[in-house]
Amino acid sequence: MLVFVAMGRRDLAVTPDINREHQGQLTNPPRVDTQVYLSRKFVILHNQAPVEMVFKSQSFRELEANMVADQRFILGVDLDGVVADFYGYMREVTAEWKGVPIEELTEEVSFGLPEWGLVKDEYGRLHRFAVTQRKLFGAMRPIEGAPQALRRLSAEGVRIRIITHRLFISYFHQTAVSQTVEWLEDHAVQYWDLCFMEDKTAVEAQLYIEDSEKNVERIRSKGDQVIIFTNSTNRNLPDHPGGRADDWSEAERMIRDRYYEWRRDKGLALPAGPGLAALEK
Ligand SMILES: [Mg+2]
Repeated sequence: MLVFVAMGRRDLAVTPDINREHQGQLTNPPRVDTQVYLSRKFVILHNQAPVEMVFKSQSFRELEANMVADQRFILGVDLDGVVADFYGYMREVTAEWKGVPIEELTEEVSFGLPEWGLVKDEYGRLHRFAVTQRKLFGAMRPIEGAPQALRRLSAEGVRIRIITHRLFISYFHQTAVSQTVEWLEDHAVQYWDLCFMEDKTAVEAQLYIEDSEKNVERIRSKGDQVIIFTNSTNRNLPDHPGGRADDWSEAERMIRDRYYEWRRDKGLALPAGPGLAALEK
């Protein structure tokens, strides 16, 4: 079993040895089906009770090199604004925060939400309130069609690697991670890896789906493929390279096209149909 971890921008840990080295420190064995990356510390989630561990690190490239036996098409999936309806829930919280009817808050927002009349530095305070007092990570609705599309793609062999920058509030990491995992399971979002980190390119994927302009530009600058998931915050980004999906039916089709292309290049059989695994040759 491998357990992964991120210790900073570049260092990701892990090794099968970690578990052997630290087995004695655990009251329960760690889960084997979910790998968790954290930016500062390492947590194994087991029965919703994170257990902190110390570990040694190695680069992600080394780690991946050790995993080539299980080579998969990795889809890097952003959560907020792509799978979870971040702006929809923030609109509700902002109406409460400002004491105004929700209809007064336009849905056409840009990054930082200046259209909602937030004064200087207020966005940070509002965001913190939403996370810590209104359970943002546990209360958002999924974006329509996202869990279903990810389940179908996963069944076809796509390895879903969720990458999210949610550990931005100090001493709130345990709650942030727990709410995130509970939300993913509650909505049956299929995934294999869960990475909490700012630099999404550090975990590497064959294809990303992302809504943040900054992250799209960063991924593109590394020469990696990224599909823009459209919302009002990213309309100014040029669609190409990589393309743009306005909803999850479009995103699913684009991801599937690229995944099938990847399988063809490797001489692998194609899945029997949407949501179905490939037939063994
Ligand atoms: Mg996002």
